[in-house]
Amino acid sequence: MEKHQFKAESQRLLDLMIHSIYTHQEIFLREIISNASDAIDKLAYTALTDDKVGLSRGDFAITLSVDKDARRLTVSDNGIGMDRQEMEENLGTICKSGSLGFKQAMEKQEDIDIIGQFGVGFYSAFMVADSVSVISKKYGSEQAYLWTSNGSDGYTMEETTRDAAGTDIIMTLKADTEDEKYSEFLEEYKLRELVHKYSDYIRYPIRMMVTKSRLKEDCPEDKPEYESYQDWDTLNSMVPLWQKNPKEVGEEEYERFYREKFYDFNKPLRTIHMNAEGTVSFRALLFIPGKAPYDFYTKDYKQGLQLYSSGVMIMDNCEELLPEHFRFVRGVVDSQDLSLNISREMLQHNRQVSIIARNIEKKIKSELLSMLENDREKYLQFYEAFGRQVKYGCVGDYGAHKDACQDLLLFYSNRQQKLITLKEYVDSMAEGQEKIYYAPGESADRLSKLPQVTALDGKGYDVLLFGDEVDEFVPQTLMTYGEKKFCNVVTEDLELQSEEEKKEMDAKAEEMKSLLTFVKDTLGDLVKEVRLSANLGAFAACMTPDAGMSFEMEKYMKRVNPDMAFPVGRILELNADHEAVTAMEEAMVSDPEKAADYARLLYGQAELMADLPLEDPAAYTALVCKLMK
Ligand code: ADP
Repeated sequence: MEKHQFKAESQRLLDLMIHSIYTHQEIFLREIISNASDAIDKLAYTALTDDKVGLSRGDFAITLSVDKDARRLTVSDNGIGMDRQEMEENLGTICKSGSLGFKQAMEKQEDIDIIGQFGVGFYSAFMVADSVSVISKKYGSEQAYLWTSNGSDGYTMEETTRDAAGTDIIMTLKADTEDEKYSEFLEEYKLRELVHKYSDYIRYPIRMMVTKSRLKEDCPEDKPEYESYQDWDTLNSMVPLWQKNPKEVGEEEYERFYREKFYDFNKPLRTIHMNAEGTVSFRALLFIPGKAPYDFYTKDYKQGLQLYSSGVMIMDNCEELLPEHFRFVRGVVDSQDLSLNISREMLQHNRQVSIIARNIEKKIKSELLSMLENDREKYLQFYEAFGRQVKYGCVGDYGAHKDACQDLLLFYSNRQQKLITLKEYVDSMAEGQEKIYYAPGESADRLSKLPQVTALDGKGYDVLLFGDEVDEFVPQTLMTYGEKKFCNVVTEDLELQSEEEKKEMDAKAEEMKSLLTFVKDTLGDLVKEVRLSANLGAFAACMTPDAGMSFEMEKYMKRVNPDMAFPVGRILELNADHEAVTAMEEAMVSDPEKAADYARLLYGQAELMADLPLEDPAAYTALVCKLMK
């Protein structure tokens, strides 16, 4: 017999389990049963193609047995089992989904309460047991092993025997205390209650030997006598939640299922229960989470839906069932029309799978739209979590999925000071307004003070303030929305002037030609052009990018793909009516050196207003001080 220590972090979680509060302890049974069911899933899947398994669907079962004298509760399954190495890895360290997620949640929240809502895995047995033994024999192997631990000082491993493949989890319950009656977990009524509450939908029978009573065979009719006898009873209804009639499933039941299955301790924002009949019949139970998982925007996030065919789990994350733009949806799909031994490679070309996927996409879209319409607050929560994904969906694949995504977009409205849809923008466009105006930048607050935005606001035109770096790709991909063109207020001509005003402007530019040349000469290569603008309102100068690409895009490219990045040409625009510009014009004659300083100062200001880093902050500061003297 060998003795081993737990890894340090496993030990910490164990300590937590051992000292957790009593009210949560009953969930240990759910965890142990769910592991047993997963193990059976695996062998049932193997049995589809391997005759040697020798078991058919109806032979698989989970058994509960009780030895009251020894205070022992055993959960057995005839699933895939574990070999020695798997027992070491799975039971000796915390690396598996459930317990790992739990640990992360623990660290963030320091809230013991989440134990009750969260998949905590095998270790939860130590909440109720002093000692836990696991006997397991892996399918296809001859040798069985016994793993034993009391949770606090490591575990032992030794060889043992077991008839067939499968696992027994043997829990010796803690002694009762005044408030904590662990012996309840040896009572039939309690086990029935727990199975009904937490594990009813497990698709294999959870059996227990129980005492029943019956009428004695040859007792006289007027004097009935009863005798008791032992018999197996199935404690669960075995109907998976998604096979039930939605009318018969309570909100709480959906939530519990979601939390357990997808290791999220938050409620789902929306539950979608589908029962589709047609060319391909299927049932689906889908959830829109309320928060993005911590790894959602990384490569680690596994997208896809769990796929069942006639009750047999085929695949954990079937990506083909879910379009990329809705990859945040979690859930289960079950269809009897799918072949059981469908392989991953075949899925991509499977007609049934693509029909199901199309149905699911449509349904998710319509559910999101209805949330947007009927429960704005909830939709905002959704958008906070997954809005970026919706935008990616809109621009991905060159806009191939824009029909599914564009109506789900929200952007910040300058006039309404809140997030609005494109449709809401277009519906409230002012008389004579032709375009959808947007301004890309870092924060709505600063953008709303941009001269161009202020000028448009003066005309009663709303501007969408883009704060997210992916935002700008949206108009570039969509080009139009509802036949209205998008217009970047920073890079494009706003065309707010009448022909008359334009002529006047040209005349003024001609008049101020020497000033414009002077500023251009002073700034040299820093600017491509210096010109007048009529949209500057109260501002003296602003910076406009050359050639349609915005400064935000320049910054983005620099960060994401520095090799491909190139600087966007700067155009300095001046407000002919501004006192500062007049002052510069006057200085040009009386004190050209001062006028040159003014030009540099205005250039710096324009950089700041455009959210660009100052070319030379030290020189700018020195300049301001010089002019103050
Ligand atoms: P999780 O179930 O979230 O992965 P657990 O701590 O409950 O985490 O279990 C760890 C691993 O131990 C499981 O992933 C599985 O590989 C293995 N395991 C647990 N119970 C059984 C069982 N009854 N039969 C086979 N393997 C099991």
